[in-house]
Amino acid sequence: MTDQSAERLRMQDPRTQYPQPPFPKQPQSAPGLASKMDPTPDHGETSYVGHGRLKGRKALVTGGDSGIGRAAAIAFAREGADVAIVYLPNEEADAKEVLALIEAEGRTALALPGDITDQAFCSALVSDTVKGLGGVDILVINAAKQVSQPEIGDITAEQFDLTMKTNLYAMFWIAKAAVPHMAPGASIITTTSVQAVSPSETLLDYATTKAGIVAFTKALAKQMIEKGIRVNGVAPGPFWTALQPSGGQTQEKVSKFGAEVPLGRPGQPVELAPVYVLLASQEASFITGEIYGATGGNGVV
Ligand code: NAD
Ligand code: MG
Repeated sequence: MTDQSAERLRMQDPRTQYPQPPFPKQPQSAPGLASKMDPTPDHGETSYVGHGRLKGRKALVTGGDSGIGRAAAIAFAREGADVAIVYLPNEEADAKEVLALIEAEGRTALALPGDITDQAFCSALVSDTVKGLGGVDILVINAAKQVSQPEIGDITAEQFDLTMKTNLYAMFWIAKAAVPHMAPGASIITTTSVQAVSPSETLLDYATTKAGIVAFTKALAKQMIEKGIRVNGVAPGPFWTALQPSGGQTQEKVSKFGAEVPLGRPGQPVELAPVYVLLASQEASFITGEIYGATGGNGVV
């Protein structure tokens, strides 16, 4: 166990366990790099310890280069899984760090750069995973687009379309391509948000997709249990990731990020890793069709 992992697991007040606002303003262009964030997010690089709960599993994580997907990818590898990550080509720098961490666990790491708004790429990333890892047992549909706009008149048809394509169409295309390859015991995990039920006025199009993801997850869970496959969603509150300073929020909101929740700070991606590991693993054998919140105290419902 590293010093950082012992510190992460030490009994302590969760409000002060990780950085609290105010944060410096730090504009980046989308999709944003985790490596450029201040403070640097904790994705579990030195702080997550695995316990062999996903030994030999084959995992595919979209948006696995940074943020919540990166925390899931690192944790899956530490738990014994081979991991494929999908990311945009201009996120190669972040992705390289994750791929190296997966390989450091002695697991196979597969890089899948590309744009999930392209249907052909969504099919290809699934078949490349099946070829490269030998199957797909865990599918984490996590990549997303979030662009804050003051009001409906500021949302262009192009933005609306790209948000729908990234957050909803790609989810459908990827899940549809992956299901025929999945065996009983496999797990599909989507990433929704508190925005599905408590939408911000500045996230009209994004919040709409997050509500759609909840419905998709629950309906797919009902279908998939006929094949012995579980399907769940994770609903984060504010998490300290590149999505926010790269246009997901205004810089004013970034500097106060997390102040609005009872914990008074944003979550760090590693704080979601145990949730993804649980839902991916056989330990969650009775859990399907659920939306699992980690909101910093405001709750999902
Ligand atoms: P992030 O920016 O680190 O991850 C999002 C990833 O989506 C990017 O790294 C990128 O690789 C991928 N992506 C975006 N568009 C893509 C495209 N066209 N093709 C391929 N990949 C694309 O941010 P994050 O916060 O870790 O986001 C992960 C998930 O968490 C998202 O679904 C987001 O909606 C959700 N979420 C985040 C928060 C938060 O506060 N950070 C809160 C609730 C939900
Ligand atoms: Mg990224």
